[in-house]
Amino acid sequence: MNVTARWVTRLIFLLLLVSIVAGIKVFGTKFMHREDGSTAGYAFDSFVMGSVMTVTIRDPDKALAEKGAALVLDEVHRITGIFDPHNPGSEISRLNNSPRDGVPLTIGADMSLVLSEALRIRDASGGLFDPALGELINLWGFNSESAKHELPDSARIKALGDSLRWGAGIRLGENGKTVILEPETGRLDLGAIIAGYAVDRSVALLRQNGIRNALINLTGEIGVLGVGSNGRSWRVGVQHPRKSASHLGVIEQVEGLFVATSGDYERYFVREGRRYHHILDPRTGYSAKEGAAISVTVIASSCIVADAASTAAFVLGPESGVKFLDSLGCQGLIVYAADGDTESGKLAYRATEGFLRIMKPDLEGLPIL
Ligand code: AMP
Ligand code: MG
Repeated sequence: MNVTARWVTRLIFLLLLVSIVAGIKVFGTKFMHREDGSTAGYAFDSFVMGSVMTVTIRDPDKALAEKGAALVLDEVHRITGIFDPHNPGSEISRLNNSPRDGVPLTIGADMSLVLSEALRIRDASGGLFDPALGELINLWGFNSESAKHELPDSARIKALGDSLRWGAGIRLGENGKTVILEPETGRLDLGAIIAGYAVDRSVALLRQNGIRNALINLTGEIGVLGVGSNGRSWRVGVQHPRKSASHLGVIEQVEGLFVATSGDYERYFVREGRRYHHILDPRTGYSAKEGAAISVTVIASSCIVADAASTAAFVLGPESGVKFLDSLGCQGLIVYAADGDTESGKLAYRATEGFLRIMKPDLEGLPIL
């Protein structure tokens, strides 16, 4: 690297650092052009919830597109401010720092809605989706910026499991205005559902503000409004879980639908041939491995359901996971290891009947164009 190149790199790094420190979150705007050269719309990238969010607004009116992207970003920040368990000022931290004594605690409308959905999925999944695994999630450290990727001490995992009932003792009070946390409830962590909630809210906000055609992709949770290019439905590619540059296929008809994916390739490390990832099984305290699940994609009529259900179906595994998705009225695809070894590369899948009518997965992988 010559001296100029080195300085340019340093400058870019410094700018990035300054923008992160200053909390400037929008870091990229892309133009979309029509074949005739006119502007079709705009795509905005930002760094939120520990990941990249892309808001694509298909409208030639730049001011309207910018307004839409700013509204979405504000809304995602507002939601993060409520649900971030690492922010001591958030509502979730207030609940986490309250005694587990069965006394009703007042909650806001967002918390009420998200908790009621989380408890519904907890019950439908036989407790395998659990909104109060906070201590376990912190012990594994997958959600921490400085994740060390070390295997926690098995005695500490066991001690947590012995002393906590996780989310089994959570109830909403009358009118959903309070939550009751019985003794031995774990710390709330709604990381499996909150991106979906943020997508639902953002799509609704865009609609209310006169934006007709848009797509939001927040950490793999996707919501669409109207149509994409050439007036055809937006197309959503389903990530191949073992080939980062490939798709399993493309969902062509997503109008009015939401898509969420949970996979063991998002946050993980491999030790002695075994993969440890961020989706945890409350029965064992270790990464979920029922039926050697690898990834789950769910299509639902709201993103909060798609997001929670994809995490839940992952923990349930391919057999029970498909039945669970059917019972919720969602469509879904569960990819798993054909020979039980998630690292062998031999994939198989199970899907709801409706999913296969929408997309036939290609396990070999289709290149992303
Ligand atoms: P997702 O990527 O939507 O599947 O959500 C994974 C995140 O949900 C993790 O990073 C944890 O914060 C949380 N989580 C992990 N295991 C579970 C579980 N069994 N039930 C509910 N939330 C979980
Ligand atoms: Mg999820």
